[in-house]
Amino acid sequence: MTDITRMTIKETNEGIKSGEFSAKELTEETLKLIGKEDKDIHAYLCLDEAGALKTAKEVDALIKKGKEIDGISGVQIALKDNILFEGLHATAGSQILKDYRAAYDATVSKKLRDKKAIIIGKTNLDEFAMGSSTENSSFGPTRNPHDKSRVPGGSSGGSAAAVASGMATAALGTDTGGSIRQPGAFCGVVGLKPTYGAVSRFGLIALGSSLDQAGPITKTTEDAAIVFNAIRGIDPLDSTTSDGGYDEEELLNPDLKKIKELKVGIPEEYFVEGLNKDVGDAIESAIKSIEKLGLKTKRISLPHTKYALSVYYIVLPAEASTNLARYDGIRFGTREKHKNLLELYEENKGKGFGPEPKRRIILGTFALSAGYYDAYYDKAQRVRALIKEDFNKAFESVDVILTPTAPTTAFKLGEKTSNPLDMYLSDIFTIPANLAGVPAVSIPVKEHKGSLPIGFQLMGRHWREADILGIGQFYEKLQ
Ligand code: GLN
Repeated sequence: MTDITRMTIKETNEGIKSGEFSAKELTEETLKLIGKEDKDIHAYLCLDEAGALKTAKEVDALIKKGKEIDGISGVQIALKDNILFEGLHATAGSQILKDYRAAYDATVSKKLRDKKAIIIGKTNLDEFAMGSSTENSSFGPTRNPHDKSRVPGGSSGGSAAAVASGMATAALGTDTGGSIRQPGAFCGVVGLKPTYGAVSRFGLIALGSSLDQAGPITKTTEDAAIVFNAIRGIDPLDSTTSDGGYDEEELLNPDLKKIKELKVGIPEEYFVEGLNKDVGDAIESAIKSIEKLGLKTKRISLPHTKYALSVYYIVLPAEASTNLARYDGIRFGTREKHKNLLELYEENKGKGFGPEPKRRIILGTFALSAGYYDAYYDKAQRVRALIKEDFNKAFESVDVILTPTAPTTAFKLGEKTSNPLDMYLSDIFTIPANLAGVPAVSIPVKEHKGSLPIGFQLMGRHWREADILGIGQFYEKLQ
C-alpha cells in the first residue's frame, strides 16, 4: 500500500472521498509515525489525539452519508504554537506562556476547524518567533529530518520538519522576516508568506504587527494554494485585512498560457558574496528550467536591499517590545512569587523570557525612547518606504522576482547560537518581502540532488499570489 502519510492534500482528500482509506485510519497512521519519529525530530510541542480522532470520525460519517466535503477536510494539519486553537496550549515557545491554553480560536484556526481539517497538534518554534533555527525555543530545538545534526530553520522549524517528515500533510507557520520560507527551504518543502493583509492576524501571538502574516507550509505549491485559499479573506477582527480581489479558480487551477506570459526579474543584489556556491548553482538551474517553461527573465536592481536587514532590526524589535509588554504576570504570563509590583514584573519577566526576547525588548525600547526615536525608528521607517518603492519600480517592468530563499543550506545545531548577528544574516533575502508587504513563496529546487535541500524564492505584486504559485505549480510538473 502507498504510504498515506506521504500524500499531498489533494491525494489525501481524494483518498478519503473515494474510500481508499478513512480519515480515522490516516489520523492513526500519522499519530503512529509521530510516536516513532518525533522523539528525535521534536517537531511537536503538543498533540491533540482526542480532538484529531473526533474530527476524523466526523469526516468519515459525512462521507458515509454521501455528503460533499471540503477539499481540505480530513487533511492532517499542524499549527505553529503561536497560533491559538481553542483548548490547546499556545506557548509561543516561551516559559512565560507554558501554562497558557487558548480561550478562543485564531481566525485561521476557525476557518480550518469549520472545514473539518484535522488539527493534529502544535509545533515548535523559536521563542516568540524570534530566530532562524528553532534553537531559541525554551522547550529544546527541533532537528532537520534530512540531517538530524542540522537545524530545520526557523522560526517555524517545527511546522516545516513535521511536513518534511510526513508527520503532517500540511502546516501553518507565521512569517515576520522569513520564518515560513527559510525553514521551508531548509527542510525541502514549500512555504508561502501571503500579501500583508490577505490572512487575518487575529489570534496569532503578535511579534511585529506591521510584518506578521500566517501562511502554509506544504509538500507542493498546489497544496500551498489550497491552504492559502482556505485561510485568506477579510476579517472584521483584523482591520488590516482585505478580500484582495482574489480569483479562486486562478489560484487553484492556473492557466499555463497566462503563466508563460509573466516576466521574471532577477535582482543583482541577491547574487552577491556570501551566497553559498551550491545555492547559487541550484538557483541558476531553477532559472533555466523556468526559462524552458517559456517565461522571459530579465536582470533587475532593487538598490535599497542592502539596508533591509538594518531596517528590520529596528522596526521589528520596536514592535516586538510593544507587543511583549502584555506579558506582565497580571494580564498574561506566569505569575512568579513576589512581594510588590516591581518584584512581580522583575520575577515574571526575568524568569519567563529567554535571552532573545530580552535582547529585542531592550533594543526596541531603546529605539523607541525619547531622544532616539527620530534617529532610529523614524529613520528606519523612511528607509522602509524606499525599499517598498524599489519593489513598485521593479514591478513596472517585471511581474515576479526570483531570488535564493536563504544564503546557505541548513547549518549545524549550535553553529550560530553564539553569534546573533550571524543568525540574523540568514534572513537577508526574506526580510525585504515583509518590509514591502508583498507575497513570497519558497519552492524546493528540484534540479538539485544534494543531501540538503535548497529553495528558491518568488516574490509577486500585492495580492498576486496566483502569479508566484502558478509558476511554482508548472515548475514542479516539469520533467
Ligand atoms: N528570523 C527572523 C527573526 O528572528 C524572522 C522571524 C520571523 O519571521 N518570525 O526575527
